[in-house]
Amino acid sequence: MKRAKTRCDKLRQTEAEWQRQLSPEAYHVMRQKGTEPPFSGKYNAFFENGVYRCQGCGQALFDSERKFDSHCGWPAFDRAIAAGRTVEALDISHGMRRTEISCSCCGAHLGHLFADGPTETGLRYCVNSASLQFDVRKKSERE
Ligand SMILES: [Zn+2]
Repeated sequence: MKRAKTRCDKLRQTEAEWQRQLSPEAYHVMRQKGTEPPFSGKYNAFFENGVYRCQGCGQALFDSERKFDSHCGWPAFDRAIAAGRTVEALDISHGMRRTEISCSCCGAHLGHLFADGPTETGLRYCVNSASLQFDVRKKSERE
């Protein structure tokens, strides 16, 4: 049987299972589209060399080489690690027009995408630390 590229084992996971897997804060952000308080997340001022994965499903989302200090209070990247890793959608909640980004594999909410980035991409992926899991880079690893 042929499977779609975006197939994810986590897509069938129930909300009760998500609640068991994730911390209360991560569950709120990832499954209920919450936002962690600015400057509170563990990866906000964190600049180790490695790969940031979705905490829900483990898909690699961002590379530390594309992380920059945005001073906005959340981890910020100027691009995803590869095309198709994040999904964008219009978010008009809280009286704002924003672009929501979520994990293309398990659908978890990650944060928002803004067009005010300081690098050549002009983009700022503003991501909640609670949605991410950092992996130190192994020398042989290729994503
Ligand atoms: Zn995911």
